[in-house]
Amino acid sequence: MNPLVQALLLVGFWGWFLVQADRRWRLMRVGAAEVRWDRIGERLRRTYEYAFAQKRMRRYWWAGIAHQFIFVGFVVLLLRTLILWGRGFRETFDLPLLAIDQPLGMAYSVLKDVFVVLVILGTLVFFYYRLIARPWRMSRGFEGILILLIISTMMAADLVYDGAEIVRRTRAEGASVQFHAVEPAGSIVAFAFTGLSDSAVGVLRHAGFWTHGTLVLLFLNLLPISKHFHVITAIPNVFFSDLTPRGRLRPIADMEGKIERGETLGIQRVEQFSWKAILDLYTCTECGRCSDVCPATSTGKRLSPKHLTLDLRDHLYRRQREFLATDGPRQQIDLVGNVLEPEVVWACTTCRACETECPVFITYVDKIVDLRRHLVMEKSEFPPELQNAFRGMESNGNPWSFPASDRAAWAAGLDIPTIDQNPGAEILFWVGCSASFDDRARKIARATAQLLKAAGVNFAILGPAETCTGDPARRAGNEFLFQMLAQANVETLNAAGVRRIVTSCPHCFNTLRNEYPDFGGNYEVIHHSELLSQLVREGRLTPKKRIDQRVAFHDSCYLGRYNDVYDPPREVLRAIPGLVVLEPAQALDRGMCCGAGGAQMFKEEEHGNRRRPVDQRVNLARTEQLLDTRPDRVASACPFCQRMLIDGLAAKGRESVAQQDIAELLLESVSTAD
Ligand code: SF4
Ligand code: SF4
Repeated sequence: MNPLVQALLLVGFWGWFLVQADRRWRLMRVGAAEVRWDRIGERLRRTYEYAFAQKRMRRYWWAGIAHQFIFVGFVVLLLRTLILWGRGFRETFDLPLLAIDQPLGMAYSVLKDVFVVLVILGTLVFFYYRLIARPWRMSRGFEGILILLIISTMMAADLVYDGAEIVRRTRAEGASVQFHAVEPAGSIVAFAFTGLSDSAVGVLRHAGFWTHGTLVLLFLNLLPISKHFHVITAIPNVFFSDLTPRGRLRPIADMEGKIERGETLGIQRVEQFSWKAILDLYTCTECGRCSDVCPATSTGKRLSPKHLTLDLRDHLYRRQREFLATDGPRQQIDLVGNVLEPEVVWACTTCRACETECPVFITYVDKIVDLRRHLVMEKSEFPPELQNAFRGMESNGNPWSFPASDRAAWAAGLDIPTIDQNPGAEILFWVGCSASFDDRARKIARATAQLLKAAGVNFAILGPAETCTGDPARRAGNEFLFQMLAQANVETLNAAGVRRIVTSCPHCFNTLRNEYPDFGGNYEVIHHSELLSQLVREGRLTPKKRIDQRVAFHDSCYLGRYNDVYDPPREVLRAIPGLVVLEPAQALDRGMCCGAGGAQMFKEEEHGNRRRPVDQRVNLARTEQLLDTRPDRVASACPFCQRMLIDGLAAKGRESVAQQDIAELLLESVSTAD
């Protein structure tokens, strides 16, 4: 076509792209080191499932299909772009084996035409979302429209070039335009050009060719400076995603040594994030799916996970020049207070709904907890209510400061042995602070213990030797206190020779199962819903009494999203004769948080949000969803959820709808049969 112009375009655009990509690469390396090269096979499998097959996008039917069309289309059209760049130098250029008269070339030509059309259809779907449907979660602004215009014009230009080339070729052979099955879309466009003069066809051929080639290069250069950087970073971001158990927070290693050396605990400034966290920031597509499911955002808090990512990313980009300079002082800019409002950091319930939804595996809970760690352990800046909880956990082993000696008072009259009295127990019943001290939650402990006894399970409790697992301390950022409690509990459990643990609290369950191994505590940990459903299946518990009621079930985040325990609590409920289990609109991995997690249980909720005109408590929003199913009762499998839902029902004036744990319902059905 024109070798000089083609060479200038390629060198100019690719050169500029490489300069920009190098800056982003060096900026990412400003972040702290982190090993993400282990378990390559598992990483490749996850990358295939979530980056190539885009499993999470299947939740959004039209957007999912449209995105898949565009993604696969880009992969297919990569070769086409190389061919066209080559034709800039020699008009008859083709890649080896891909000439139109060769079998592979014919197959590729068909595939290419099909995907050109599918990519155009995909962009139409996204034009519809951006211009007509305009869901609130999506970033507005012109960038998204511009990218869609570039992509669709690129495809249209390809078709114009192909159609004009077919007409030129056919006329040169002295034939008339026919439909070619190997160039289906190009032939159809060629028909539209048959009435044009040779010079007009020539103009169209050149226009299509140069428009396509130049737009590809322009698009490439827009990537590193736009949200479409995810086109490049999404695959590595999925590949390097965290493979450790979902519910585990990374411990701060050698905390005392860090303090002695004057190193920062937690995250204070953006450059203290790891390179992987920075890759997360690069990868956000701004789709807003995280904020769409965030209980804090939907109830009016200042936290919106998408905007948290974008605020961190923009802050990092603004300071790129400073970070990349080899000399000169760096500004010390604290993130909280300058980039993020404290309310943003403290509104998170750590429910992980955002992370479950994010198509490119961006994480939030680790970043938010890291920010809290710095605020709590270095600056002592945290909601004042948490001080009581910290003090209680530290001095009495529970966040409410009840006397530790009262821990086993819930078991009065039940004749439950402690592990000292029954050292041969098959399983330890870890009761947890709520079920040990909260009057209402004690009924969960009693029901669970009564059921275990009825089934003949040989179990024991720690009694006063049990202390808080430290979950609320850890989620609130007090890693120091958490590690102190974890080490004490691991010592107690290991000294007692405990191997198997059952607990009715999903927070204890998650911490004991996923976090205590980091402190030398390796146990088989199950939730009471798992053990109870097993006992029912084995016929060791037989629910006989009918409960002819409609029961709405609420999933606990730490049981479901954190540990994939969805079926066992439902199995327990479904085993009860007469009971109808209702699912709220948001259930299973999309179940809305009750609002208690992430230490929210021990503090007041934040208020005020410049982005959404609502201001509601999370537990009220969730209670409304459950009430929408018109239940007679509401069931859960977590003492924290129970407390939040009881309060929610009371606030709605619906105390007539009883709130019960699955163990209480099962006991009601089992015990009357005795
Ligand atoms: S973990 Fe839950 S509350 Fe926190 S940002 Fe994500 S969705 Fe929102
Ligand atoms: S973090 Fe993930 S879900 Fe949220 S806007 Fe970015 S890409 Fe979308």
